[in-house]
Amino acid sequence: MGVSRSEQRVVVVGAGMAGVQTAVQLREQGWPGGIRLIGGEPHQPYDRPPLSKAVLLGKADDAALDVDFGALGIDVELGRQATALRPGERLVETDAGSVAYDQLVIATGAEAVALPGAEGVPGVHLLRTLDDAARLRAVLAARSEVVVVGAGWIGAEFTTAAREAGCDVTVVEAGVAPLPGALPAEITEHMRPWYEESGARLRTGTAVRSVERGGVRLQDGTRLRADAVVVGVGSRPATGWLAGSGIGLGEDGGVLADEMLRASAPNVYAVGDCASFPSARYGERLLVHHWDNALQGPRVVAANITAGTLPDGEAEAALYDPVPYFWSEQFGRFVQYAGHHTAQDELVRRGDPDQAAWSVCWLRDGTLNALLAVGRPRDLAQGRRLIAGRAPVDAERVADAAVPLKKAVPTS
Ligand SMILES: Cc1cc2nc3c(=O)[nH]c(=O)nc-3n(C[C@H](O)[C@H](O)[C@H](O)COP(=O)(O)OP(=O)(O)OC[C@H]3O[C@@H](n4cnc5c(N)ncnc54)[C@H](O)[C@@H]3O)c2cc1C
Repeated sequence: MGVSRSEQRVVVVGAGMAGVQTAVQLREQGWPGGIRLIGGEPHQPYDRPPLSKAVLLGKADDAALDVDFGALGIDVELGRQATALRPGERLVETDAGSVAYDQLVIATGAEAVALPGAEGVPGVHLLRTLDDAARLRAVLAARSEVVVVGAGWIGAEFTTAAREAGCDVTVVEAGVAPLPGALPAEITEHMRPWYEESGARLRTGTAVRSVERGGVRLQDGTRLRADAVVVGVGSRPATGWLAGSGIGLGEDGGVLADEMLRASAPNVYAVGDCASFPSARYGERLLVHHWDNALQGPRVVAANITAGTLPDGEAEAALYDPVPYFWSEQFGRFVQYAGHHTAQDELVRRGDPDQAAWSVCWLRDGTLNALLAVGRPRDLAQGRRLIAGRAPVDAERVADAAVPLKKAVPTS
């Protein structure tokens, strides 16, 4: 490679959880060279989950990550946007000049998808950044009349906070039940009452035709008045800046990383919300937009950068093959999911979904593939281990909520 490792510089683009963790992990795993963390937002690097929870309600002022960058020898440059990548010259172009790298980590995360025609309309909000949360905090404080577009994870958490603040909330969802795309309607139909009990109105099977000043127009012609419209219709990888770079991107916009989280150019890695990876465990490529992925992936990237630059190149490659995990706090409930299911998997209910606590399991070939737990964190913890270990399970015992999930493994 020519230059020694301590003379080499890793540049990390994107200062969210994945970028910050990559920088921290590099130091923890003994990277001796320079580390430069470049973030587009002007704020101290922060965590996103609190934005739709405590920060929105004014219970926390910010969600800054508690990292002493100076002590770790990490150079942080905030408010600096990467605009292009030239892998052949190992250069990142930014709005403040070019930056040379020896190793590059793309950690630019995702951006919230806007509703076509709604951009720039006064009173229309997204919820992705600290600035978005600050604007919405004022909406909540004014106890406004709000229309939420989308009953996904963000829509549900925002609605929870807005109802707690005393806002009048109507949620409009094009799918037939909450969380379409993420979970089957036969399960999420049981979440519909959560909205109603909170005092929000949920209208499913209704798309928004247009967003206007002071409200939205639905496909059926109905007009809903609103002081504020909150759009929660999903997120997509923030990879527009890689156009023309030759870095392979999927149809979903995610960087096509390999099992070591390497992108398609030499010495370039990608991690977190911006990258998909081939899951050996599930036999398909996954694009995961959840916090745990932004925490775990960086360990693998740091290990591969650290090992891959050793003089003899003999250190073992670290492979990324996680059991995906996420949680959501909505309507006073703790909702957790581990694994990855498809419509082909056998769905096994565990407990009554009209009660406060229940789970749903997905089985494939006699093993647990995925699990959704509502108010049953023990199911989640035990199920996650069963999924990771690919342990065979007995479907009848899985269905018995009185039997601890770990005891669903056949004994003989
Ligand atoms: C409101 C909210 C609540 C959430 N709650 C949960 C939850 O309860 N549970 C859960 O599991 N997950 C949750 N998530 C998801 C989780 O926060 C994300 O998966 C995680 O933040 C991804 O981290 P990341 O670093 O990959 O991306 P990001 O957090 O998106 O960070 C990427 C950073 O890169 C910067 N960037 C982008 N482009 C450029 C560029 N060209 N140049 C420089 N910088 C750039 C961005 O400004 C951003 O700061 C939530 C997300 C949101 C938005």
